[in-house]
Amino acid sequence: MKGLVDSHAHLFYEGVYDTLDYKLKFAKLAGVDYILSVGTDSKTMAKNIEIAERFSNVFASVGIHPHHFSDGYDIAELIKLSKHDKVVAIGEVGLDYHYDDATPKSGQITLFRDMLSISKECKLPYIIHSRECFDDIFDIMAEYKLPPSVFHCYTDTRENVSKILDRGHYISFAGVITFKKSDELREIVKYVPADRLLIETDCPYLSPVPYRGKPNEPAFVSIVAECVAQVRGIGVKEVASLTSDNFFRLFQKAASYTAQQQST
Ligand SMILES: [Zn+2]
Repeated sequence: MKGLVDSHAHLFYEGVYDTLDYKLKFAKLAGVDYILSVGTDSKTMAKNIEIAERFSNVFASVGIHPHHFSDGYDIAELIKLSKHDKVVAIGEVGLDYHYDDATPKSGQITLFRDMLSISKECKLPYIIHSRECFDDIFDIMAEYKLPPSVFHCYTDTRENVSKILDRGHYISFAGVITFKKSDELREIVKYVPADRLLIETDCPYLSPVPYRGKPNEPAFVSIVAECVAQVRGIGVKEVASLTSDNFFRLFQKAASYTAQQQST
């Protein structure tokens, strides 16, 4: 039987990292088989990979989040790190126009283009962070014509979902779908085809109900799965099975790694 996959967590952040052994045991008990720990900046990249080396069921990604543009980044170093056995994606990358005082748009766009070039060079899928910038992100993605990626923690419109699906990309939902006011988003959860759906925690952020306001952790992806099951009128086991299949179809390097581990 297939277990759950938390397709987007940040295990290197303080508060998660300090009690990681305990949190990963708790996740196992909650039925979570695999976790993808997603990178956000140069400073924590090595730590993120170290976690993936330490825990056989954790994969890592490398990439620079739009908010970290001004911290600087080294493309050659990112390419080198992406060759690591457990690094299965480039991310999270994208654009975020929500905060006025954040990185200027031009800087974010340069960074995003650099990250897509790395994805192309390393032949790894990328993980999209998109906030109030959909048209810009989508236009830039179109120029690069790369294989499918995933829009993480989706909270955008249904209209944009159709565009994403038309281009073959995946959509990942986090604990936001459990929030009381998320009726529209739950309609989108119903609408996304079974072979394009992923689930995640985005921990330590965005804890699902009833843990809102508390730190999130990978175990809580089981709550996201239950919500998806309820909304789509299917069992949690089916949600686990289809989202796990989707995860390993999208992140093929994770699939190869797992197959190799099982054969040795
Ligand atoms: Zn994230």
